[in-house]
Amino acid sequence: MNNIFNYKLSDLKQFFLSQNEKEYKAIQVYEWLYKKRVFDFEKMTNIKKDLIKILKMNFLVNFITIEKKQIDKDARKYLFKLADNNYIEAVLMYHNYGVSVCVSSQVGCNMGCRFCESGRLKKVRNLETCEMVEQILLIEEDIKRRIDSVVIMGIGEPFDNYDNVMNFVKIINSDYGIAIGARHITISTCGIIPKIKMLMEEKLQINLAISLHAPNNIIRDAIMPINKVYNLDNLINTLKEYIAKTNRRVTIEYVTLKGVNDSNECALELANLLKGMNVYVNLIPYNETNNLGFAKSSKNTIKTFYDILKKNKINVTIRREFGSNIDAACGQLRSKEVGK
Ligand code: SAH
Repeated sequence: MNNIFNYKLSDLKQFFLSQNEKEYKAIQVYEWLYKKRVFDFEKMTNIKKDLIKILKMNFLVNFITIEKKQIDKDARKYLFKLADNNYIEAVLMYHNYGVSVCVSSQVGCNMGCRFCESGRLKKVRNLETCEMVEQILLIEEDIKRRIDSVVIMGIGEPFDNYDNVMNFVKIINSDYGIAIGARHITISTCGIIPKIKMLMEEKLQINLAISLHAPNNIIRDAIMPINKVYNLDNLINTLKEYIAKTNRRVTIEYVTLKGVNDSNECALELANLLKGMNVYVNLIPYNETNNLGFAKSSKNTIKTFYDILKKNKINVTIRREFGSNIDAACGQLRSKEVGK
């Protein structure tokens, strides 16, 4: 039996049609689940008895569970346990413009970025769509309010799990469901070019963020193995194509690592690389972890880097630091709990 949270509205409509039922019943069920948060088919009072039976015979409504929660003043970190005893994380952040959640897309990750804690556990499996949807549902229940935006930036490479991630996006975006606007949904990738090209064709208004982290191939090769497959020049050309085709601004993420990618020369090289592109750079202070041997750049270094980009007319912000005392860096809580 399939978990109901794997179903986009169009899939659920298809299911009802295959049962010789009216399509609009799918909307009713969807509203029970996502608007009223009623997860027991028996309690869906406008659904008739024989249909409830069909639903019960065909769908499961089982949840992942919150194993642990760490609470800070501006962030909460959740460790979730999956049905097969794997663990993933999500982070909730309070901003002045609302509440955002960072969700995981895989158990482990195969991208091997040298500075990232998540990749210390190789990919075990992709998350199912329902496991991503449930991260949102459980967090909304926990904080007793609706989430304003979602970033797919937790454990895993979303474009290594493209179909399930796109299903997830469509479910949380549906007006009959959680109704998070496309412009409030961001997918972050280390740069899997064929999937960036696929996203171009989806005609969705979602945001794309690229983990660039280096202004040239030498540095990027050294810290991000994916660069040996899809190198910086190809990536930048693909982004130019993406921007031209979608007319959407792309976010460039740049984690500043002390002595690795944070020099003035790097800032200048980055400015030249991005010149004229509709992008904005998000400088991310590195969240240090014990295991990997990288250090965060000083505030001054980051400010100088920022100034150089600004002077060269690149849109840039420095990301506010969230939850460093709750192990909020990608994969930190999981690896501490599980001990590997
Ligand atoms: N695989 C995707 C999404 C998950 S990683 C991607 O690469 O974009 C989300 C972001 O966090 C990436 O930009 C990643 O490089 C960054 N990141 C990983 N470890 C970090 C750390 N310790 N401190 C700050 N950012 C980190």
